[in-house]
Amino acid sequence: MADKYTDFVSGGFGKTLAKKLGLPQPVRLKRFKPGQPLVASPVLVLGPSGCADTNAVAELLLDGLGSGEQIDVRRQAITSGGVRWGAIVVVLTSLSTPADLSESVRTLGSQLRSLAPSGRVLFVTRPADSSAIPAVAAARQGVLGTMRSLGKELRSGATANALEIADDTPVTSTSVLSALRFFLSPKSAFVDGQVVRVKRDAGTAPANWNQPLAGKVAVVTGAAQGIGAAIAKTLARDGAKVVAVDIPAAGDSLARVANEIKGTALQLDVTADDAGARIIEHAVGRHGGLDIVVHNAGITRDKLLANMDDARWDSVIAVNIESQLRMNEAFLASEHFKDAPRIVSLASTSGIAGNRGQTNYGASKAGVVAMVAATSPLLEAVDGTANAVAPGFIETKMTAKIPLATREVARRLNSLQQGGQPVDVAETIAFLASPASGGISGITIRVCGQNLVGA
Ligand code: NAD
Repeated sequence: MADKYTDFVSGGFGKTLAKKLGLPQPVRLKRFKPGQPLVASPVLVLGPSGCADTNAVAELLLDGLGSGEQIDVRRQAITSGGVRWGAIVVVLTSLSTPADLSESVRTLGSQLRSLAPSGRVLFVTRPADSSAIPAVAAARQGVLGTMRSLGKELRSGATANALEIADDTPVTSTSVLSALRFFLSPKSAFVDGQVVRVKRDAGTAPANWNQPLAGKVAVVTGAAQGIGAAIAKTLARDGAKVVAVDIPAAGDSLARVANEIKGTALQLDVTADDAGARIIEHAVGRHGGLDIVVHNAGITRDKLLANMDDARWDSVIAVNIESQLRMNEAFLASEHFKDAPRIVSLASTSGIAGNRGQTNYGASKAGVVAMVAATSPLLEAVDGTANAVAPGFIETKMTAKIPLATREVARRLNSLQQGGQPVDVAETIAFLASPASGGISGITIRVCGQNLVGA
């Protein structure tokens, strides 16, 4: 889907004009292409002097984050130009009080003019809610406050995010590695202002980080077009055998997607009582198992609540949340879903911040956020995880239907001043679906470029 404004201000006369008039100046974000280095370097690692975790994170990077990739890692801030940081990682796991923030954060500030376009700032911290000491809790929450404000200050496609690691989990955990690989790469292009929590030391490093889903069978619902098709393609790129599910009416495009990625198509309405059983039967019968389920099928039937009819309300609840709950019951009860399974659901920022005309959709998507949090403990015994991804404004047929003026406002109201691409949602789902991300569960990651309003 075209964003002609971003094209216009990306060079020449348009760029000069936007600058003169003080108009938004979105830049084309750098996105991942297979074969390119994963992490933009050089990477600057900052942290309080003598902090063991800072050294450990620097070592992980020097080791190529598990895949032997050459990463130029530096520990010294620069005092004059010459270097363009691909990423700056600030390790703040040993704070005792908010005053401890100053050394590293102010050094970070001195380096921001040297951050490359589409550069990354990643804070590594510990959860505030796990500390009984008020000063420690305040310092830890302060890291997130800094990160969220910084996200709104960065320009040229750069982002700020935080990785929050449980107190008893080492910074060298496989899930931390998985998260570093995601956040420091172009795969996280439209993820901004987010906190991802690693809640336990779990996850298995894949034999080949370029094919982390090799040998896995993944089901993607609503895969005939839009975000679902991008998810199916991304999971296939990462090595999974994909079952693409959609309604019979979308059969032709569904078959095209399935053929392109050498997967199989399953025509199915996810609201059917036996949808879960039919998915298991197809995945096990055709591919020998079921490891990953992506609940992407979703609909909107917008109306102000005062004008809402039963059909609009009921269909949105049925497709977007009731179907997921029913299918998950079948998956959790199945003997075929016991080997570190992954569930990733599509929520929406409308389910977090609310959106005019979307009481039905907001109810369903808020339900998804709570559903994954409550499902997560049920999967822990089999090393499984359940998470959600909440897209903001993504350039799809769904958002192309929004009237021009509203669309133009909606797509600029985030720190990156543009809409995301379906692949941005897909990359985040692939990260959560990875066997390496086993310690990340029960959370919702927004893929919204840090929406400025509401969530
Ligand atoms: P889309 O309408 O382009 O695609 C949705 C797909 O789901 C379609 O192929 C449709 O046929 C299928 N589907 C609908 N009902 C189904 C059912 N009962 N059984 C099986 N398949 C069914 O939408 P999209 O923009 O690609 O959105 C995908 C997901 O992302 C949805 O859950 C949506 O709510 C969510 N989302 C999208 C955006 C956005 O900006 N596009 C923002 C937030 C959340």
